[in-house]
Amino acid sequence: MVGIARLASESLSIEAKREVEYFDLTTRSFLAKCNSPRMPFRWMINPYRGCEFGCKYCYARYTHEFMELRDGADFERKIYVKHFDARRFKEELRRVPQGETIAIGTATDPYQPAERRYRLTRSMWEQFASTAGFELRLITKSDLVTRDIDVLREVARRHRLVITLTITTLDRDLARLLEPLAPRPDLRLNAIRKLTAAGIRVTVNCAPVLPLINDSEASLDSVAQAAARAGAKAIGGNVLFLKPCAQAVFMPFLEEHFPALVRRYREHYGRAAYLRGAYPQTIHERLQRIRKRYGLDQREAPPEPELWPHDPQLTLFCE
Ligand code: SF4
Repeated sequence: MVGIARLASESLSIEAKREVEYFDLTTRSFLAKCNSPRMPFRWMINPYRGCEFGCKYCYARYTHEFMELRDGADFERKIYVKHFDARRFKEELRRVPQGETIAIGTATDPYQPAERRYRLTRSMWEQFASTAGFELRLITKSDLVTRDIDVLREVARRHRLVITLTITTLDRDLARLLEPLAPRPDLRLNAIRKLTAAGIRVTVNCAPVLPLINDSEASLDSVAQAAARAGAKAIGGNVLFLKPCAQAVFMPFLEEHFPALVRRYREHYGRAAYLRGAYPQTIHERLQRIRKRYGLDQREAPPEPELWPHDPQLTLFCE
């Protein structure tokens, strides 16, 4: 057993809540470099490993496989809380050139229930509130993000900050099926309102688009309309992809709740994780139309913030 799997096996259980257990995880760094040229960011922060929200389509389950935890349910029930050291984190930030993008929450939700207690995401923001000069993009499904509006205001004075709320449907029952423990869509819309009122730039991620489940023009339109009314500036979306770790959870879910779709999903996703051809193109065009309809096509980064550093010597640490 090597690396992260060994660290995971040695982690101390912090507590067991219902069926969820929390573990303390020591990692070499809080900030990770992303080497994939397909991604629009070079740096990532995932304060936790695993995610209690338990979305049926979640692609991030592979991160538990690195720890030799291969049961799909482990991803939702064994949550690893990374050790956060403020001084070390600031040292790590010194490696990041000014203006580069740091994506927060690429493989976990930084505002999942664990955050109420462990406050790792908030601790991270507190450090960003005394630095300047990065593009920071956080993605979440949780209205808990509004707890941190006080510190986010300061972060937005120093960095290009974008908060993205994922909303896949406004249908509460469907959301409960797909994203069992994530906050309801109306709570996420409230979060957009509050963040926008605080002057923070918010976008919406309507992803994944699931064939024949939430992909109708009416469904996507309703999400976009509500997002625009709440103050969001842009909407994105992409078609469901199903890697083997996600298929292991999603296909049994489909059999139970959408049995009429099983054959078609098997035909298409049995061949490859990503759909190609006419269907993704149709969804792309549908989203383009909807974006234009509601003025949700402002995907550029926020304008230069008040305390953006101009002196390269002052790339960081302008407290
Ligand atoms: S909120 Fe994100 S990370 Fe968490 S289970 Fe859902 S898709 Fe996965």
